[in-house]
Amino acid sequence: MLKGKTALVTGAAKGIGKAIAIEFAKEGANIVLNYRSTVDDETIKEIESFGVECFALKADVSDFAQAESLIKEAKAHFGSLDVLVNNAGITRDGLLMRMSEEDFDSVLRINLKGAFNTIRHASNIMLKQKQGTIINLSSVVGLMGNAGQANYAASKAGLIGLTKSTARELAPRGITCNAIAPGFIATDMTETLSEQVKEQMLSNIPLKAYGTGEDVARAAVFLAKNRYITGQVLNVDGGMVMN
Ligand code: NAP
Repeated sequence: MLKGKTALVTGAAKGIGKAIAIEFAKEGANIVLNYRSTVDDETIKEIESFGVECFALKADVSDFAQAESLIKEAKAHFGSLDVLVNNAGITRDGLLMRMSEEDFDSVLRINLKGAFNTIRHASNIMLKQKQGTIINLSSVVGLMGNAGQANYAASKAGLIGLTKSTARELAPRGITCNAIAPGFIATDMTETLSEQVKEQMLSNIPLKAYGTGEDVARAAVFLAKNRYITGQVLNVDGGMVMN
């Protein structure tokens, strides 16, 4: 079902984004791997080992013009854009009373506006194709809030509103848009947390284990394969949030 399709994953040089790119490659999709700073050859080779093409494109998705070039180059290269996964994200944690304006703005600019930028340009292509699917990486923090992450939680809650509005606008043309809300996934992003915070997190996870990038990636493939699920938030969190 995804064989021969084009899947663009933002921020896919490592972590969850890389796992998503690999999982789509396993399904036979050609990959547009967006990165901001660097991507190593090993990652590209690993993706191509599944018999697909991996086209790496450097772009800062928070920049409207760079996001436009990214989407246009992806479409020009493969001829279609079938799956867009907005994975690029950052944290700049700190207590609200001490949070700088720059830390608030940069998190919103990358995590939320970055997704708007790519959706804005990709939707033109998907509307003409009359098919496509968009997946946004939100977080359980966007549902629950988290002390020390007001900027991050606001960006991830914003992504849910963006997801539902996009889903409603694009549904008449057969395009779906969903969000995934991961819980605690072991990547560079969570590696920086202290052992004390990690243990506290673990105690709040009913399944008593951290998630992996593959857990999230398999959820992304599931959503991309299903034409009748749209506007949803799929939690991949070991049971942290039960709706
Ligand atoms: P990660 O290991 O820190 O990777 C994030 C990736 O995003 C990096 O490759 C980074 O590239 C890229 N990126 C950052 N800003 C970018 C920009 N402006 N343009 C393009 N790429 C950019 O993080 P992760 O843990 O894999 O997280 C991936 C996504 O899942 C994020 O949206 C995160 O918020 C979400 N999430 C993660 C967890 C978790 O527990 N790990 C939980 C919930 C949600 P550079 O390294 O070059 O900056």
